[in-house]
Amino acid sequence: MSDRPVESVALMARPKNQKSVVKKRSYTAGRVARQLPIAPEPNRLLKVWRRVLERRLRTRLRAKVAVEIHDNTHTMLTFQRQRALWRLRLHHMFLAAPDDVVQALASFVRNGDPDASVHLDRYIERNRAYIRRLSPAQMRKRIRLEPEGQHHDLERIFARLNERYFESRIDAAITYGPAPRVKGPRKSIKMGSYSADSKVIRIHPALDQPMVPRYFVEWIVFHEMLHHVYRTRRGDDGRRCIHPPELMEHEKRFHDYSRALAWERENLDLLLRARVSP
Ligand SMILES: [Zn+2]
Repeated sequence: MSDRPVESVALMARPKNQKSVVKKRSYTAGRVARQLPIAPEPNRLLKVWRRVLERRLRTRLRAKVAVEIHDNTHTMLTFQRQRALWRLRLHHMFLAAPDDVVQALASFVRNGDPDASVHLDRYIERNRAYIRRLSPAQMRKRIRLEPEGQHHDLERIFARLNERYFESRIDAAITYGPAPRVKGPRKSIKMGSYSADSKVIRIHPALDQPMVPRYFVEWIVFHEMLHHVYRTRRGDDGRRCIHPPELMEHEKRFHDYSRALAWERENLDLLLRARVSP
């Protein structure tokens, strides 16, 4: 029970309408690369290359593909299925990817193939010279931090936990995240996240309600602080492990661990139904 991930597939309620389920995954670079200047790609050329890549993926996925190219520093690839369309957001290093890499992309997107994942990892590692380097402080400057809330002051919760459990050594920022736009009732809720790039913890604004007990918010914050301590790594099976056993073990040291788990079990509906104004 303890290895239940809080992010990604966290708190999946039974989907009512299978068709509207969106498959989403992300894939991140293991390490941020040294800075190397790269010549800016002329826009027109970029468009052509992007279309070529879409075509190459389309033949392999036998489905419509929309590619968006970015210059992110940490997340190299995310994808999402929207009915018959695959939406991929890719780092520009994939524009000129050789066939074996495009094939791996297709296999990874289609069924999360672990071999393909290893292949992609190697490609990212070989091309890390193209990953722009930004310091966490630079990244953080771009983010508006709003930790105060109406009911739960995240800054204070963070500071107390930091003192109590981490000798105040966790150098991260915290904020309520923006309210994601959801049509109809939520099927899942991502209560917290941690960005290793910016060292920012984001907490879902649905937690800022009077009926959500303080110890529950503390637990979510504590969990995200552990992500700062234990970085994502590869498990023995080659898959990415965002919740290594050490993290899950450490999490049990939280003073209200079982109470928080029990509250979550009983009140999931309340969180899924929460209306949050952006
Ligand atoms: Zn987590």
